[in-house]
Amino acid sequence: MQIYKVGGAVRDRLLGKPVTDIDWVVVGATTEEMLAKGFRPVGADFPVFLHPKSGEEYALARTERKNGRGYGGFIFHASPDVTLEEDLIRRDLTINAMAEDDQQNLTDPYHGQRDLEARLLRHVSPAFAEDPLRVLRVARFAARYAELGFTVAPETLELMRQLSESGELEALTPERSWKEIARALMEDQPQVFIEVLRDCGALKVLMPEVEALFGVPQPEAHHPEIDTGVHTLSVLEQAALHKQPLTVRWACLLHDLGKGLTPEEEWPRHIAHEHKGLKLIKAVNERFKAPKDCQELALLVGKYHTHGHRALELKPSTLLELLQSFDVYRRPQRFEEFIAACEMDARGRKGLEQRSYPQADYLRGAAIAARSIAVQPLLEKGFKGPELGEAIKSERLKALKAYKDQA
Ligand code: ATP
Ligand code: MG
Repeated sequence: MQIYKVGGAVRDRLLGKPVTDIDWVVVGATTEEMLAKGFRPVGADFPVFLHPKSGEEYALARTERKNGRGYGGFIFHASPDVTLEEDLIRRDLTINAMAEDDQQNLTDPYHGQRDLEARLLRHVSPAFAEDPLRVLRVARFAARYAELGFTVAPETLELMRQLSESGELEALTPERSWKEIARALMEDQPQVFIEVLRDCGALKVLMPEVEALFGVPQPEAHHPEIDTGVHTLSVLEQAALHKQPLTVRWACLLHDLGKGLTPEEEWPRHIAHEHKGLKLIKAVNERFKAPKDCQELALLVGKYHTHGHRALELKPSTLLELLQSFDVYRRPQRFEEFIAACEMDARGRKGLEQRSYPQADYLRGAAIAARSIAVQPLLEKGFKGPELGEAIKSERLKALKAYKDQA
């Protein structure tokens, strides 16, 4: 049997990027031989094994044939006579379809190295169209390598466009889509992921609520960039620049969905967009079965981001309601993420990226003030149950009044 490094490890070495995980392909072996060498089988669908020591993934070389919709509709054929070239041709991009032996001899039948130099994301063969997930993967690689100047080859973009129009994207499972979305949002330029999806017509299939923001104007005085879609991309860009976690990035992407529902007569104002957007945020959350923390933060940021911006003007009672809504006493981290999302929203405006955001510290201070009231004296006075709750609330309100007065 011959063993080769494939995929990301080869690509990233040639790009001079750190290689984190290594994928291997094994040519000329059977499942039985792998098991005899101590490899542990994983994956129900096709023969992939974990190395007994390193734990890295070793896949038997295989070919694929499509029969039916979605990812389930594939027939795999793995046998010792499948060649390296046959295995590489089923891969998505030419830069991902190179292999390397232990002497670093490159096998590159589809000119991945040439495309690396040309900074092009190009599909290997027309079979690209057999798995719609590749549309998301290409957009994700575009986001990752944008800083190196990579773009999607025009003929690949055209194929992605046809795939988006064919209805195949709807056959993707939420789990597969979310995995790509989550990884793409964590790249350095997640806005490029959304841009590429939009360019190929996939955004209006996957997230029509986000697509709908393009072409919707906002008041120029607050939003010099005017367009709500452009603003959303800038907010995402800021979130990445400020190394925000996935929860915040997801909330940034969805925070203004309500603006897509404003009747044109009301443009450029967006009255109650925070509230109107909630059902859209919920729909997108559920479509991709986003993790609970992402879902929750997106809804809270959607509902309250304007409160965040107006923090310094809020009445103490409104400030208290805000803190209660976040359950900031038990969930301080989630409130921090809310503040971060608000700040990214404010920075995601053309020309205002560097402007300070005093609301952030003000909100942090308010949370501290509300949290630091003394409960013991209330217990000593005999408060219990709902009455104790009310007494605590009224102490917090006093604390917030004092906080606002001295701020
Ligand atoms: P990363 O750095 O994100 O891990 P990678 O290229 O290694 O990038 P993996 O998802 O680990 O990506 O997949 C390993 C290789 O398997 C890819 O380089 C590609 O050749 C192939 N591959 C993975 N998923 C697909 C797919 N859906 N369609 C075609 N080829 C795929
Ligand atoms: Mg990999």
